[in-house]
Amino acid sequence: MGFSPRLVDVHEHAFLFNPDKALSEYEEAREEGIGVLLTSIDLTSAKRILQASLPENVAYVLGIYPPGELERDREAGFITAFNARPDLLPGIIREAGERLVGIGEIGLDGTHSVTQEDIRVFKEQLRIARRESLPVVVHSRRAEREVISILQEEAPSMPVILHSFTGRQRLIPEALETLNVYVSIPCNVLRSEQMQQLARLTPADRLLLETDAPFLGAERGIPSRSTCLPRSLARIAMLKDIPIAVLKEQLLENTYRVFPRLKEWYARGARSA
Ligand SMILES: [Zn+2]
Repeated sequence: MGFSPRLVDVHEHAFLFNPDKALSEYEEAREEGIGVLLTSIDLTSAKRILQASLPENVAYVLGIYPPGELERDREAGFITAFNARPDLLPGIIREAGERLVGIGEIGLDGTHSVTQEDIRVFKEQLRIARRESLPVVVHSRRAEREVISILQEEAPSMPVILHSFTGRQRLIPEALETLNVYVSIPCNVLRSEQMQQLARLTPADRLLLETDAPFLGAERGIPSRSTCLPRSLARIAMLKDIPIAVLKEQLLENTYRVFPRLKEWYARGARSA
């Protein structure tokens, strides 16, 4: 059997915020032929993901978000607990098995400040990803220059997804030239001129789709979900003047080039889901 998606949401967190609702949304996404990469923010959330019973279209991307930001989110009551121990990540990778397709979300966040601990945790996870031959999904908000410099030093050939990139767009050509980088565009491309410009700027063979659900929805204030992907596809096809069917095939090809383990999971592992 297996699962043959027409589109894949490469960055998604809905289960961490509202598990029951997320599970029914994943089921709907499956019926619409949409794959989902459910992404942790720390080891506490990674363990919750591993304990969940998920439909076959959902695979894992597990990693640790910048610890300084997690601490602030916890103080604000936005998350209840966190665990930023990258030394424990290899054990989690073993436990996750063939459903794990990448490391993320990792990176830096300069909204408040970037700490030395944030940089250490980011670099350690890049090293783990390199050792495990896994791609990384990178968060870079307000620290884009620093993130790209670290990737140039630590991971020039590793497949890297810059997710929801909101930095200066002149950094993109440099990143495309010096890194094995892909740009994933969230569903707010339907309303955000900045995201539309990013989609225009990025060559079709380096583009991916994401939701960052429940954030960055197609409509402001309404939680995002993976079933918005066909609308993103149509809008980006229009922006780039590429037929929808051609872009859809290109995006799937890109997704499997970055996440070869996802292709394997859908082809055979998904049977045991
Ligand atoms: Zn995210």
